[in-house]
Amino acid sequence: MVVVVDTVSATPLRPRHPEKVNRPDALSPPKPDWIRVRAPNTRGYADTRNIIKENGLVTVCEEAGCPNIGECWDKKHATFMIMGDTCTRACAFCNVKTGMPGALDASEPEHVAEATFKLGLAHIVVTSVDRDDLADGGAEHFAQTIRAIRVRCPSTTIEILTPDFLRKEGALEVVAKAKPDVFNHNLETVPSHYLSVRPGARYFHSIRLLQRVKEIDPGIFTKSGIMVGLGEERHEVLQVMDDLRSADVDFLTIGQYLQPTRKHHAVMRYVPPDEFAAYEKVAYTKGFLMVSASPLTRSSHHAGEDFARLKAARAAISG
Ligand code: SF4
Repeated sequence: MVVVVDTVSATPLRPRHPEKVNRPDALSPPKPDWIRVRAPNTRGYADTRNIIKENGLVTVCEEAGCPNIGECWDKKHATFMIMGDTCTRACAFCNVKTGMPGALDASEPEHVAEATFKLGLAHIVVTSVDRDDLADGGAEHFAQTIRAIRVRCPSTTIEILTPDFLRKEGALEVVAKAKPDVFNHNLETVPSHYLSVRPGARYFHSIRLLQRVKEIDPGIFTKSGIMVGLGEERHEVLQVMDDLRSADVDFLTIGQYLQPTRKHHAVMRYVPPDEFAAYEKVAYTKGFLMVSASPLTRSSHHAGEDFARLKAARAAISG
């Protein structure tokens, strides 16, 4: 028997989202004027890019195709994405590559700390891919990263944006005990859309995670966010606000969902700026310390300035 080995054809490139390849295209309406952003081509942007590349780091700014990258990187604000560039979940809204990730890089916490130092950040945001393949969901790696930044940049405040650590007993406690200044976990959408938008997650598990952070350490600010324009109803957004307040969450962000590719969930509607303003107003009446609601709001957008306002709001309440 003869075995023929094909040494000629190039190996086909692995698709970024293999689970979405065979989905029919989902068409979104054209973007309105209020969504347009500047092209990223400033000196500050280039400097930020160089520091990130020199330290071999991944950013959610690039991986998620964030529309604010020109503005943020010009000001040397970047959000690091730790534990690789490949996510074990396959959310319908997300542009991060999916599949089986590689081993953790033990030197990554130091590299994140070094890049934070070089960028001169007063406030750093660190997020990660979902690591369902790891026994602790990557909790210890998160904690090590927080500790490394504290050592290298003692005056920098630290905000983390974590996965849900679903079925990872004890993981949340490990991260909370490393004492980030802000613990963010995004709900992403209203509960009725979880199956179609965030199928690997559970709405009330995410609410409970945020509540547990406050129980473990009431000094940590908690934060969460949703995207609108995925087909949700207004009353559902108001219900999410109530659920977050019942978990004592301090800071709410609401931004417009943008479709990364035609294989992702379609934009059902571009929510006009005045509706965001109305959401912001009602959220404040429900007791959030801070609310950011606008078409281009993202969890980490203006995070440094928002943290200062968050601290001031808490200080004002506690007199
Ligand atoms: S909003 Fe966040 S994710 Fe987007 S570019 Fe700014 S720092 Fe990066």
